[in-house]
Amino acid sequence: MIMSSKEAVPDRPKSYTVQVGANSVNFSEQKTIIKALMRPRTNRDDYHTMSREQQVNLIRLRTGHNRLNAHMNRKFKLAPSPTCACGQEDQTAEHILQRCPLLDEERKEVWPSPTPLQTKLYGSRQELEKTTTFITSAGLIV
Ligand SMILES: [Zn+2]
Repeated sequence: MIMSSKEAVPDRPKSYTVQVGANSVNFSEQKTIIKALMRPRTNRDDYHTMSREQQVNLIRLRTGHNRLNAHMNRKFKLAPSPTCACGQEDQTAEHILQRCPLLDEERKEVWPSPTPLQTKLYGSRQELEKTTTFITSAGLIV
């Protein structure tokens, strides 16, 4: 027997709410939450597949919340100067990853040809590994 959709679900309420702790969640919000939970996580970047230590280093480099002189001096006054030991620029993630002459040797070891900062911080797993390897081999604490 074929039923119309109206007959198939005769008593479905137009809307209802469910108490979740102190917050109420209506039917449409519940659908959104459930769909979000069911959705495969396709947009995770390779960062999520790395070790905790590698993740911490990458996040610090990405956000600028790190122990490099520029941040430690400006934010916390914990470094005497924001300048890098090379004296050329503020010691930022971009400076150490891209330009610091004191790290040229280690940089060329990891990246034989020039590589954009974006790739070093947001590239594939392989690229991200290179970045964490560079930080370790340069003896940097970020
Ligand atoms: Zn430098």
